[in-house]
Amino acid sequence: MRITMIGSGYVGLVSGACFADFGHDVTCVDLNEQKIEALKAGRIPIFEPGLEVLVADNARAGRLTFTTDLAPAVANSDVVFIAVGTPSRRGDGHADLSYVYAAAADIARAVKGFTVIVTKSTAPVGTGDEVERIIRETNPAADVVVVTNPEFLREGSAIEDFKRPDRIVVGLEDDRAREVMTDVYRPLYLNQAPLMFTGRRTAELIKYAGNAFLAMKITFINEIADLCERTGANVQDVARGIGMDNRIGGKFLNAGPGYGGSCFPKDTLALVKTGQDFETPLRLVETTIEVNDRRKRAMGRKVISAMGGNVRGKTIGILGLTFKPNTDDMRDAPSIAIIQSLQDAGVRIRAYDPEGMEAAKTFLSGVDYAADVYDAASGADALVLITEWNAFRSLDLKRIEQAMAGNVFIDLRNVYRRKEVETAGLNYVSIGRPQGA
Ligand code: NAD
Repeated sequence: MRITMIGSGYVGLVSGACFADFGHDVTCVDLNEQKIEALKAGRIPIFEPGLEVLVADNARAGRLTFTTDLAPAVANSDVVFIAVGTPSRRGDGHADLSYVYAAAADIARAVKGFTVIVTKSTAPVGTGDEVERIIRETNPAADVVVVTNPEFLREGSAIEDFKRPDRIVVGLEDDRAREVMTDVYRPLYLNQAPLMFTGRRTAELIKYAGNAFLAMKITFINEIADLCERTGANVQDVARGIGMDNRIGGKFLNAGPGYGGSCFPKDTLALVKTGQDFETPLRLVETTIEVNDRRKRAMGRKVISAMGGNVRGKTIGILGLTFKPNTDDMRDAPSIAIIQSLQDAGVRIRAYDPEGMEAAKTFLSGVDYAADVYDAASGADALVLITEWNAFRSLDLKRIEQAMAGNVFIDLRNVYRRKEVETAGLNYVSIGRPQGA
């Protein structure tokens, strides 16, 4: 299959490289010239484990190429994926579909012969219809079918997720397109990955319903964690106890500082807007967004109260800035709101993150970036672990205690056991766990 991927970001680049690895002939397109120049030179513009090798191998084999020139790539393709961003729109917070629609119009002008156009970007119900309308209006002679194929990969384990998905959802209403999409995903299908065909609108909604459900699950355990703190129960045991019930499942039950990242915040917001547009309010999702938003600044207040209340002029070391480990993605990371709330209270921030510090500079101001964990701890009155990178899981706590000016260690991911932290001479504060846990 000859495939063009429009948009070479976290999803487009990973999907493109994986399709090439399956043996397809893939061209990744992006408007961003710097990105394409970097990729042509063998440099990967994002941090994603395993991606550099995968891209290099497939580029060397001649199956993966990069260009800013959309038209020839599209003209030579059997399948064109749209994997551009769908961020929250300024103003009302609904999904900004301008990149998707611009790509659809560009594709329409360039397409030659029968071509399947696939929306991989997360886009609200009805987007597939609009993409089809734009293409038909721009080029009435085009022989195309528009398909929706939402992506479920997670940053940090994107390649594994793409190659071993729980399911592949394909929304279409056309037999020719069904054949093409079956061929595109054949290598995975042979690996027993269930290929689920639905209507286009259903596929669009599956993606949003899935993300909203996961965001709700995290938010639920976060609220239970707050109740645990007040009642002396242990949220980790509660999560284990309910998670062993197969109807609930143990994943996504780790209490923490609130969800963030480039998907959950914008997708929950867009789903709520869709619900309102169709006069079907989604109140559970609305509440989830509200609870999660409040939680991030509440984490700032938790840190301040652990430090005795008055923090003006104090220094806080931060471990981890990205919204989760193994990515450099800073979009909507909880660290942003937490750090801002601490800065509002007059705190000086020294932060360290293994991969996210470059990206963090565009989201945060007034932060000193440290060379490593111990440098972040150096002279700090308190140390706050925000992202659970593996590199933070077995710290030399004694060395940290010696480097710090104060002795408060706040673990917003429940990585440590109280006893080991206290043995090193630090005061330990975590999420939803009583004394002794
Ligand atoms: P991204 O911002 O990393 O990448 C988007 C890329 O598209 C950018 O490089 C941009 O320059 C390029 N682009 C925009 N308009 C273009 C055009 N007309 N032609 C060519 N290139 C264009 O975004 P992402 O994180 O890869 O997300 C893409 C979509 O996938 C979003 O809808 C997102 O919700 C969805 N998604 C993301 C993830 C994730 O973990 N990041 C997971 C599943 C789904």
